[in-house]
Amino acid sequence: MKEKILVSACLLGINCKYNGSSNQTKELERKFKHLALNYEILSVCPEELGGLATPREVAEINGEKVFTKSGKDVTEQFSKGAKICADLALKNGCKFAVLKSKSPSCGSEFIYDGTFSKTLKTGDGFTARALKQLGVKILDENFSLDDEINLII
Ligand code: SF4
Repeated sequence: MKEKILVSACLLGINCKYNGSSNQTKELERKFKHLALNYEILSVCPEELGGLATPREVAEINGEKVFTKSGKDVTEQFSKGAKICADLALKNGCKFAVLKSKSPSCGSEFIYDGTFSKTLKTGDGFTARALKQLGVKILDENFSLDDEINLII
């Protein structure tokens, strides 16, 4: 049986991004096709799983909370989505995930700083943080197939 990995749905061509589009590219399509030879891909969009609609207002993390650009507190939905993804990873024994960079849910290492000015700061999105707490390794969409080989070993 193939090992299972979590992947941000928007990287797989699902139109779940806040603006109703996806983040898929030809190059990503090629890389995920290759990954699918060795892994079962579990597609997740934490923001939709947390109950947010698509399209939706853009949101960023500010302190311990998440706010939309107009100031609505969506922390509860982001927390719920992160918990569902963490439970899924645990249940399926996922050792790594490929998540969209910079997102307040999926971003790892760097996220937008809460000012909606495209400024990055160090930090993890809610789902990336929850997965890391379980020991799940996070790659972003810039992963190379060499990274994947290192993970198998
Ligand atoms: S929450 Fe993650 S999977 Fe969903 S659109 Fe944002 S980056 Fe993509």
